[in-house]
Amino acid sequence: MNHLPRLIVFSGAGLSAESGLPTFRGDQGLWEGVPIAKVCHIETWRENFDAVHEFYDARRIAEARAEPNAGHRTIAEWQKRWPGRVVILTQNIDRLLERAGCTDIVKLHGDIRRMRCVACETEWEIGGVAYDQSGCPQCRSTRDVKPAVIFFGEAAPRYTFLQQVAQFLRPQDTAIVVGTSGVVLPADRLFAHTPAHSILVNLQPGVDMDEGAFTERHYGPATRQLPALTALLRQRLG
Ligand SMILES: [Zn+2]
Repeated sequence: MNHLPRLIVFSGAGLSAESGLPTFRGDQGLWEGVPIAKVCHIETWRENFDAVHEFYDARRIAEARAEPNAGHRTIAEWQKRWPGRVVILTQNIDRLLERAGCTDIVKLHGDIRRMRCVACETEWEIGGVAYDQSGCPQCRSTRDVKPAVIFFGEAAPRYTFLQQVAQFLRPQDTAIVVGTSGVVLPADRLFAHTPAHSILVNLQPGVDMDEGAFTERHYGPATRQLPALTALLRQRLG
């Protein structure tokens, strides 16, 4: 990586909410009578095996039917405008950034269109459809297959990369945090208390982050707020 200013974009569920994908945040709510937290938890997913797969099948199909929005497309345009200088990190497990044209996305919480065998660590792509329960292509196990998304209580290996990116931000860099409450990952601590120019874009002010620590705060739909930042980015990235 050279000395040229870089842009870091860190996104959360709020970015895809405008494409119609629900956030399912927190442990409120039920899925087929099972609390949401139990279909996303590494300690309990096996005992709720069918509910887990039904839950993620429904989300995967909903994702395949959804379309990327102007927020996703704007991030893809930035990446094309400043090749090699835009780092995209997302907590989202959907494919909307990819489908908008983004590449090299660091998917911190995994990918809903992939499955993972916890017995032999094999991961594979299934596309935007329901999982056919055919089992692991490597070891043939059926009961060890889960969506390749990070459950609560499960290690998230890409967090190390996230911390490194945040740690090495410089004054000439810009960090945009979009559509995240900061509950799962403390975006304020990661990106606001850095020498970089930090920008928070959220639908409305929240209470779970130190939002005053960001250089700028923009409240409103990401589909409008992100395109409006392009002018500032041109000044900062050239
Ligand atoms: Zn396997």
